[in-house]
Amino acid sequence: MEADFIIVGAGSAGCALADKLTADGRYRVLVLEAGGSDRRFWVQVPLGYGKLFYDKELNWAYATAADAGLDGRSDYWPRGKILGGSSSINAMVYIRGQAADYEDWAAAGNPGWGWDDVLRVYKAMEDNEDGGDELHGSGGPLHVSDVSDRIHPLCRAYLAAAEEAGLSFNPDLNGAHQAGAGIYEITTFKGRRNSAARAFLYPAVKRGGVETVTNAHVTRVLFEGKRASGVEYLKGGETRTATARREVILAGGAVNTPQILQLSGIGPGALLQALGIALVTSNANVGRHLQDHLGINYTYRSRQPSLNNVLRPWWGKLMVGLQYLITGSGPLSLSLNQGGGFFSTDAERTKPNMQLYMQAITTTVPGVGERPLLTPDPFPGFSLGLSSCRPRARGFIEITSDDPLAAPRIVPNAYGHADDINEMLAAVKFLRHLASMPSLASIIEEELLPGPEVTGDEALVHDIRRRSGTVYHPSCTCRMGPDAASAVVDPRLRVHGIEGLRVADASIFPNIISGNTNAPAMMVGIRAGELICEDHAP
Ligand SMILES: Cc1cc2nc3c(=O)[nH]c(=O)nc-3n(C[C@H](O)[C@H](O)[C@H](O)COP(=O)(O)OP(=O)(O)OC[C@H]3O[C@@H](n4cnc5c(N)ncnc54)[C@H](O)[C@@H]3O)c2cc1C
Repeated sequence: MEADFIIVGAGSAGCALADKLTADGRYRVLVLEAGGSDRRFWVQVPLGYGKLFYDKELNWAYATAADAGLDGRSDYWPRGKILGGSSSINAMVYIRGQAADYEDWAAAGNPGWGWDDVLRVYKAMEDNEDGGDELHGSGGPLHVSDVSDRIHPLCRAYLAAAEEAGLSFNPDLNGAHQAGAGIYEITTFKGRRNSAARAFLYPAVKRGGVETVTNAHVTRVLFEGKRASGVEYLKGGETRTATARREVILAGGAVNTPQILQLSGIGPGALLQALGIALVTSNANVGRHLQDHLGINYTYRSRQPSLNNVLRPWWGKLMVGLQYLITGSGPLSLSLNQGGGFFSTDAERTKPNMQLYMQAITTTVPGVGERPLLTPDPFPGFSLGLSSCRPRARGFIEITSDDPLAAPRIVPNAYGHADDINEMLAAVKFLRHLASMPSLASIIEEELLPGPEVTGDEALVHDIRRRSGTVYHPSCTCRMGPDAASAVVDPRLRVHGIEGLRVADASIFPNIISGNTNAPAMMVGIRAGELICEDHAP
């Protein structure tokens, strides 16, 4: 097989990139995706999220190394292995982050990645249900839904309590400022998940110029000297190769892209030599600088009905199922995260450092390996969740053998910096303060998790370590920067020291952004397409 460009991975960034590269009809693009089709009922139904969480048919389902910061536990890391990648299994919250996050990207030596630069890309990619303005786009390929008139009534109590706790209502969490409590916009269209595959890849394939091969697991990049010439991949038990006339672009995500680079001989020299992998170029940063958001939920039994009341009984399931099938609306058409927000854990900070989630549903009963959102607790309940915005700890990802099918070792180093645990401690105290406000206190019957007996800093920190985990935003493992001594790709996303090879996915973030990472990953895909087209302009 041969194409002008080969994209490895049809995830959030890969799909957006395929669309951009073929927009003017000049190039032929081959997209190789390890997973299969997204034509599955529970992928398209937004609340089907719960059904995909542990499904190994469409999820890489990684387990991290035991982490001291998580009380010695291994954390579960779902990642999409399907057309659309993680955007086909995620919770669909649409957040772009703070302007300052991107100013930090530019300040790290990456011209063209500041807030004004990326805002232009965001606006072009969006089709916001509320229309476009100086901060939002309309008419773009990605549908962003405003569901504020469809949320569960308990979310109103959450918003009122936030106001009582001093966190004002923010009508637009992607607006001029992030601080405040509000309702998340979500990436759905007419009640269906609007993954990157649906927004970008399908239209691009229809237009022409893109060939997608599913169940194609890329095992390594092929080189002629220091120039990437193609890739090797496994399909149906056979090893095949594909040739890139111009470039190979890795878009395998923050776990798999560093893995593929390392397997291909680009990574920490000593590690690769120890595993018998021929070194193409030594770069100690491949797989390093891993950043992720950690989260924890506080869960309450409620005096008022929650989604548990309709999603648990058979008649409720039937009702919401029919509602969804007939009208495309109701709980199945929404994310489990409805209420949200951002706040600062201390008054000194000028920007929020903590994110909030309000879920009008609880699943305290199931154990490991289950996330039955459609069979929640047999009593009304809701959860208030937290996740950090810009944690300071850094983890890493590295291969442990030259077997491309072996999972890499993921070391999150959760709460590996004292600031991270301190801000989470302050945040859980705020969460309890929020829950004690009249609008919530009046409807809370009891705190189920961690439970009212857990008090005092030591016990709260122990609970944080015991119960918290990833909120599925790993990034920065092939970070962008001008210097090969501290980065993997340059500001045009070219792998340092190699020709014809770029990276375009969440692994290139120089720092994680304050918020969910799907929108930024898609933005990176589009921006990569712009840069590549510029560099190959006749
Ligand atoms: C459970 C969950 C919930 C989330 N919720 C939200 C949310 O509500 N809002 C939000 O903004 N973000 C959310 N995220 C995060 C967001 O979806 C990801 O950050 C984003 O999708 C990452 O995009 P990416 O392009 O970097 O990687 P991915 O979208 O993961 O794409 C990588 C693709 O590459 C493929 N691939 C990997 N290795 C190979 C190989 N060797 N050969 C061929 N193909 C390969 C993968 O199968 C995958 O399709 C969530 C993520 C998860 C997992």
